[in-house]
Parts: sequence; C-alpha cells; structure tokens
Amino acid sequence: MQISSLIQAATGPFFSLEFFPPSAEADLPSFYATVEQLRALHPLFASVTYGAGGARRRNTLAVTAELARRGFTTMAHLTCVGADPESIAVFLKDLRAVGVDNVLALRGDPPMDGRWDWKEGYFQHAVDLVAFTRERQPDMGIGVAVYPAPHPESPSFALDRRHTADKLRAGAGFAVSQLFFDVREYEALVADLRARGLDTPVVPGILPIQSFDSLRRVLSLCGANIPGKLYLSLEEADRKGGAEAVRDAGLDFAVRQIRRLLDCGAPGIHLYTLNKGDLCLRIAEEAGMRRSEPATGGC
Ligand code: FAD
Repeated sequence: MQISSLIQAATGPFFSLEFFPPSAEADLPSFYATVEQLRALHPLFASVTYGAGGARRRNTLAVTAELARRGFTTMAHLTCVGADPESIAVFLKDLRAVGVDNVLALRGDPPMDGRWDWKEGYFQHAVDLVAFTRERQPDMGIGVAVYPAPHPESPSFALDRRHTADKLRAGAGFAVSQLFFDVREYEALVADLRARGLDTPVVPGILPIQSFDSLRRVLSLCGANIPGKLYLSLEEADRKGGAEAVRDAGLDFAVRQIRRLLDCGAPGIHLYTLNKGDLCLRIAEEAGMRRSEPATGGC
C-alpha cells in the first residue's frame, strides 16, 4: 500500500516510526522486541534507514522485509550517491518481492574523505532517484526528505526550497522532514511548498531526546540547528538532575512541539525512535496520541 494513500485516508493524526537496522545479528531479538512494544502506537508506517554498501544494504532489506511480514506498512530508505543504476533497480525489485511498497528516495552523503566529485556517477541528487524509481517501479510509493532549516550544504533557503519542490514534482507522494526544534521552521517550509502549488503531505520528524550524548551525536551527523534556549535548558537539567532530568526536559519539549505541530496542521508525527521504545511511548502518552485504533492502514 502506498503511504501517500494511507496519509490521505487517515482519520486523525498518526505516528510513523523510524528504525535503524542493528549491525549485529545478536541484537535482532531485542530490536524486534522494541518494534513490537511500539506497535501500541499503531504506526501508519515504519521506516528503516539505509547504510551504503553491501552488508548494511542487506540489513535494510532484511529488516524492512521482516517488518512487512509482521504486518507493518513499511518504507525502506535508499540512498543513490555513488550507486550504479542497476544495483538500485535490483534493490527496488527485491523490496517489492518481500512486500515493501514504499521507498524514501535520498541522495545520501558522499564519502567523508573530501575527494568526492559530484559530476561522478549516474545519480547526482535525490530528484534523480525519484525519477528513476518512478520509471522502474511505477506503482511504488515514493517519499523524500525535506529540511525545515535548509539542508546544511545549501547556500540559501530559497535555493533549497526550490530543489525540494523539484523533487516533490518529480513524483514523490509525501515527504518526511529532518528533525528540527523550532515549529516555525516547519510552518515556513510547508507555507513555501503550498505557495508553489504543492499540497504534498509533509510529516514532521521529531527526535526524542534520550541524553545529551545522543543529542550531540545526532546533531553532528545531520547538521540540524538547536535553539540556544533549548540547549541551555537541557544543560541546566543536566547540571541539576543528570541524565534523567535531561530526558524529562527533552520529553516535555517533544510533547509541546508535537502539540503545536498538530495544531498547525501536520498530518502526523514521524518519530526518530533511535530503536528505543519507552521514551517514544511516554511521549505519545503525554501528547495524548495513544489511540486504541489505527488512524487507518497502520497496524
Ligand atoms: P538532495 O535532495 O539531493 O539534496 C541535497 C543537497 O543538494 C541540498 O542542499 C539541495 O538543496 C541540493 N540539491 C538538490 N537538488 C539539486 C539540484 N538539482 N542542483 C543543485 N543542488 C541540488 N542518509 C542515509 O545515508 N541513510 C538514511 O537512511 C537516511 N535517512 C534519512 C531520512 C530523513 C527523513 C532525512 C531528512 C535524511 C536522511 N538521510 C539518510 C540523510 C540524507 O541522506 C542527507 O541529508 C543528504 O545529505 C541529503 O539527502 P537528500 O535526499 O535530501 O538530498
């Protein structure tokens, strides 16, 4: 089932959940236990991140297939930087064969050695992967990543917004946002897309703050901005009450952010679970989003 259709049919705000495939096979049982724990949120869909290269790519396929087998509507992330088109075509076919109908079409990040030549390779940007997927798997649901604060490489808001609109027009049915902490950035992004005549649903991505360390790690990887006020309040919580107080302050913040996002018309919330269940459940509870029934299509 295409996620864009599920979003359209949703009867109320929903959760979607993002997981990353455990790198060690020994961690799979506890990983699936977390997934089952989060089933209580009736996610509209579950997505699985993608690491470039052989084994990590196979992990994405295996985990997404297992989630589909367990009855979740699933989406595999897929990056195209440095990939050859035939291996991408095979991956897309493999996904369909195991019942995965949706893909998050991403460019990905080039190798960190600084020697990457953007002219190299078949795919330069996510928009190329959107078009390729649309051509090779016309019935596949396609989502793309969007950035409430512009993508860190982008020289300006305006240019980033234009490229975002282009990849949506190339055939994406919905978008999932990068994590962010200022709701006004999400509102501005959506307003910009609407002004360009695009009514594509944009599911905002929320990071439950598990600890200062994990926050720093995630921020250093994705380049998102954190408002000074939030950072200082987390620092103060850490000073006064340590890790638990940071988690509680992060939880309060996420709950307020979710309420504001739903008030301003977000169709649902994409939780970056970091493969942790308890905090996600607490956030849903306190945001008043624990429901007994799926919003539709979710399980
Ligand atoms: P693009 O849309 O190609 O954009 C990248 C940059 O290029 C932007 O600055 C954009 O403005 C610019 N640009 C776009 N089109 C053009 C054009 N035609 N001409 C000139 N400039 C252009 N990474 C992973 O490796 N695995 C994952 O599983 C993963 N999951 C993610 C999930 C979400 C929800 C998000 C938000 C990000 C995820 N990422 C993942 C990170 C992502 O790969 C990086 O942010 C990457 O740097 C950009 O990917 P993109 O698809 O947004 O690229």
